[in-house]
Amino acid sequence: MGTWNRRDFLKAGASLAAGMGLGSLHGEALAEGIEAIHAGNAKVLWLTAMSCSGCSVSLLNTENPGPVELLTEIISLVYHPVLSAAQGSTVGEVIEKLTKAGGYYFVIEGAIPAGMSTACMLEGQPLTNHLPKIIRNAKAVIAAGTCAAFGGIPAAEGNPTGAVCVRDYMTQQGLSVAGRLVNCPGCPTHPQSLIGTVAYVVAKGYPAVHPELLTPDMYFRHSVHDECPRFHYWEKSQFAEKFGDEGCLFKLGCLGPLSHTHCPRSQWNGGANWCIRAGAPCTACTSENFAKHRDFPFYRKGEANHPVSYTEAQREGVR
Ligand code: SF4
Ligand code: SF4
Repeated sequence: MGTWNRRDFLKAGASLAAGMGLGSLHGEALAEGIEAIHAGNAKVLWLTAMSCSGCSVSLLNTENPGPVELLTEIISLVYHPVLSAAQGSTVGEVIEKLTKAGGYYFVIEGAIPAGMSTACMLEGQPLTNHLPKIIRNAKAVIAAGTCAAFGGIPAAEGNPTGAVCVRDYMTQQGLSVAGRLVNCPGCPTHPQSLIGTVAYVVAKGYPAVHPELLTPDMYFRHSVHDECPRFHYWEKSQFAEKFGDEGCLFKLGCLGPLSHTHCPRSQWNGGANWCIRAGAPCTACTSENFAKHRDFPFYRKGEANHPVSYTEAQREGVR
């Protein structure tokens, strides 16, 4: 592979950790994982199920390391349906060889069409014909994005495909979830936490996760609300009444209290901006219920239909 040395790996690990406000120990762990992947000691297979490929595109929006470094020096992807040139029977051979050898890390993007297998095909066969073996023989499974982690848009109420999240699919198939599946939600998933999670799992094994959501604590412990730069407005009950106003966006429907992720720390596109700094309410794209229910719109006006309720005395308790 490329020309990176130990110093470059440490730099990449430190940069990934610093962008998330994580300490140097995390940086070293990430560097260790990145180095193992680079050396070919940890193979990564990425497949897409019911998704828009937005999480793959998001992966390419990574900065420090950038997309070229990511693909040529860091992640040795055995196969990726959007980024790999391999097609047809070659893909089948690659996957067959890999699953036979075992010990790889499996990244899955998208929800699984449990009620309509032909909605997702791989090498002329339903993806679900391949998945149980791929999942069973993987060292760890990383669900990239909200569709894979929680069902997301494909699993919205009324969908005809019976779409389910990866955890539900694994449970239905009798595949063990505990200590193997890590969820990295987001619509799309954030490249830094996804790369960081894969690198951490490779270097240190299964991370500390939320007991129900299976999201890694290091990236998903705090809510957007907890760390929001507009939080002082919330505390003073100073609410924006229309887009462009100063103030907390709660009365424009902000769901920051329901979304646990690191957007306020990392922002997006290399720290260029993010939803709330741009004046848009958080739609809780990392939450379990994102886009699932037809009576749960992305935006809402006022507090009448807001899913988060509070009294003034409870304001601190909403955090
Ligand atoms: S409700 Fe939204 S805008 Fe207001 S403090 Fe919380 S996250 Fe920030
Ligand atoms: S601020 Fe909210 S909607 Fe925007 S990317 Fe972060 S979690 Fe998703």
